[in-house]
Amino acid sequence: MSETRHSKVLIIGSGPAGYTAGVYASRAMLEPLLVQGIEPGGQLTTTTEVENWPGNTEIQGPDLMVNMQAHASAMGCEIVGDVITSLKLDSRPFTAKGDSGATYTADAVILATGARAKWLGLPSEEKFKGFGVSACATCDGFFYRGQEIVVIGGGNTAVEEALFLTKFASKVTLIHRRDTLRAEKILQHRLLNHPKIVPLWNHALDEVIGTDSPLGVEGVRAKHIETGKITEIAAKGVFVAIGHAPANELVKDTLETHMGGYVVTKPDSTATSIPGVFAAGDLTDHVFRQAVTSAGMGCMAALEAERWLAEQD
Ligand code: FAD
Ligand code: NAP
Repeated sequence: MSETRHSKVLIIGSGPAGYTAGVYASRAMLEPLLVQGIEPGGQLTTTTEVENWPGNTEIQGPDLMVNMQAHASAMGCEIVGDVITSLKLDSRPFTAKGDSGATYTADAVILATGARAKWLGLPSEEKFKGFGVSACATCDGFFYRGQEIVVIGGGNTAVEEALFLTKFASKVTLIHRRDTLRAEKILQHRLLNHPKIVPLWNHALDEVIGTDSPLGVEGVRAKHIETGKITEIAAKGVFVAIGHAPANELVKDTLETHMGGYVVTKPDSTATSIPGVFAAGDLTDHVFRQAVTSAGMGCMAALEAERWLAEQD
């Protein structure tokens, strides 16, 4: 496909921020076009129960995102399965190229590319990625039925992943570099009272150990933060859950960023350093990083794009 598509508003990303922007921009009669990217539905498609989306005491993450897509679509948002590979913001209309070969031009752009899992950067982590090392328990947990598993991290993701993995694993060791968790209190309580979960405090992952043929994990070496003492733990799976970094590849050289790459927006606004380009959700939020705040910013971005386009007319 090498066609050129023009829209008044191009939304890049299909997480809560992108789909909410799609709903609002559609209702403003802007006929938005939304490009979904490699992960349609975004990060919530990699989790199970979501318990803090208002209106649903509990909903599965993938179901919530299917609902959001259907809502945006029903309002008139055109949803395209493509990945933007480059974005030109120095002249108008703005131009994006898709992996499909398509070109997208737009009068205004809403960036909602979210965030991606961080890795520790250890050579052994890299070696066993996909062969026992993972960053997605909902995707890969099923492979470790009856096995011992290690989870690294102390935030909401690590604690939720550890709890989820108890459905399959015989034992889950949570390795955290401090002796207090960053996760919400309700999650901490569930973790600390779970009979299958053993926390290992004040330790960092030193090395993933395993076999070469076939490639597979047999355990980890964890190092005490203060003493340097090494503890070996047997495990068939290692889940790295140490946070997320903004997916800023398209704009890191063109837009102002801060705090490790988050796109800077004007105070109380989603406007970026380029007029007509708005950013919403985890791409710009280094503080809250929640589905509901991302959706809120998606709403703001669409309303601000509408106002900005009206001013141009
Ligand atoms: P994301 O959800 O990150 O979506 C980004 C979108 O951008 C994706 O669709 C991707 O395909 C697209 N994209 C990226 N690059 C491109 C490109 N080049 N071209 C086109 N598209 C692109 N929050 C809660 O409030 N409650 C929870 O219970 C909860 N649980 C979580 C569990 C896990 C395991 C994780 C990882 C996060 C959880 N969060 C939760 C956080 C929540 O998922 C995020 O805050 C939210 O998804 C951010 O929304 P977003 O729209 O900014 O981006
Ligand atoms: P996070 O809150 O940033 O936590 C990352 C954890 O990993 C921290 O405990 C951190 O340790 C640890 N860590 C970071 N770098 C490390 C390294 N190099 N080595 C070892 N440990 C390291 O990230 P997250 O848990 O992925 O959550 C991201 C956002 O999504 C948060 O805003 C969170 O609230 C949200 N989220 C919400 C839910 C929910 O509402 N149920 C679920 C999942 C995620 P320190 O504590 O020492 O810094």
